[in-house]
Order: sequence, then C-alpha cells, then structure tokens
Amino acid sequence: MKSIELKNVSKVYSNGVRALDDVSFVLHQGEFIAVMGQSGSGKSTFLQIAGLLDTCTSGEILINGKEVSSLDKNQIADVRKNTLGFVFQAFHLNPHLKLYENIMVPMLINDAYKNKTEMLEKADELMKTVGIFKRKDHYPAQLSGGEQQRTAIARALANDPDFILADEPTGNLDSKNEAMIFEELKKLAKLGKGVLVVCHNEAIVNYADKIYIMKDGVLTANAE
Ligand code: ADP
Repeated sequence: MKSIELKNVSKVYSNGVRALDDVSFVLHQGEFIAVMGQSGSGKSTFLQIAGLLDTCTSGEILINGKEVSSLDKNQIADVRKNTLGFVFQAFHLNPHLKLYENIMVPMLINDAYKNKTEMLEKADELMKTVGIFKRKDHYPAQLSGGEQQRTAIARALANDPDFILADEPTGNLDSKNEAMIFEELKKLAKLGKGVLVVCHNEAIVNYADKIYIMKDGVLTANAE
C-alpha cells in the first residue's frame, strides 16, 4: 500500500530551533489525518518535510516505501510532481488566469498529458469533482475564498498525486466554507488519496480519521 512514512525525524533550523523532535508517523492511501497544534509548534515544518519541500536534520522519510535521502534534487522534484499535491492557506492562484487555466498549470510540466484536449478534459473533470465547474471561465478575484480554495485543491489533483498535503487550508475561510473544504478533503480520502492536513482549526476533528497533536516539535496521537 502506498504511504508517506517518517521515522525518527528531527529538524533543527540554523538558528538552533528544534522544530521537530524525533517524529515518527505514517499516512496511508485512503486515510485522512490531521495534525493539530498551536502556532509555532512545528506543524508547517512537519508538512514541508513530509512533502519533500524541506530536508530533515536526522531520521528517514519514505515515500511509497522508498527512502528519499538517497535521491538527488531532480529525483526528489519528480517524486513531488508525480506523488504529492499541495494546498496552502493563501490559495496562490494566478490572478491573470481563468479558473480552468489555473488548474492546467501543473499539467504543462507533466509528460502524462499528450495534448491540450486531454488537459482541458481533465480540468473539466477536476472542476466537477470539487464543484466549481460552473465557474470555469472566471478569474480568481471573481470567486469566493471557498471557491478559490476548491480551485487550489483541483490544481493539486492535476497530476493525479497519491497524497494531498494541506497547510491551514481553511485559515482564510468562514465556517461555512471551512466545512465545505474539509468535506472535499474527506471525499478525496474516500476516493483513495492519502490526505494530511496541518491546522489549528478544531472543526477538523469531525472529518479526519485520525488526529495527532504537535507540541514543541513532538508529535503524539490524540488519546481522545
Ligand atoms: P507552526 O506551523 O506550528 O506554526 P512552524 O513549523 O512554522 O510551526 O515553526 C516551528 C518552530 O520553528 C517555530 O519556533 C518557528 O519560529 C521555527 N521556524 C520555522 N521556520 C523556520 C526557519 N526557516 N528558520 C528558523 N526557524 C524556523
């Protein structure tokens, strides 16, 4: 089964801050895991390292069973491109591109798409998956925050990743949109994606399969 696994991972920044302290963790396909904790507890560092956006100081990271420290930069970029999709608090959409064009951006660097027709078809399918198809010709500024985040989720799915990693995905949303985004992420886990969300929004306990707590860089399973 596909998985992201961290074994005894620590991260010490150059300023001496130990942001992760001996963290071990597994996310499988089809699972929705949330990591909660206060600001500064190490959640973003954890997501960045699990998503190969940053490196750890010690420990091992395995993506689909393969240890990544032996890979060079290009190979890591390939793993990221083909295996991982990211969603962030600030939606990071290109304001000059229509919604469907934003979703197509990652497809342009993916050999899996043979031509533009295939990309357009896939973009349509993804917009239907996250419920924004009617908005396909709009620009980000014409969309609500919730719609923008759903667009960002569709874009994260463009290369059909095994895993979706989201950092505070509801940080800029009201409670109604927040619920819709959590529902969307839950749906993706049901469709077989592994979903990891780091956030301090307690509402997520109603959606995730498992909750972990991050405190001072130490990760523990929620006892409740
Ligand atoms: P959270 O996402 O829970 O707010 P972070 O992972 O951003 O926590 O930060 C954890 C700790 O690491 C904090 O003390 C923060 O100040 C520190 N930190 C984060 N990024 C860096 C960095 N690039 N350089 C130095 N210290 C950092």
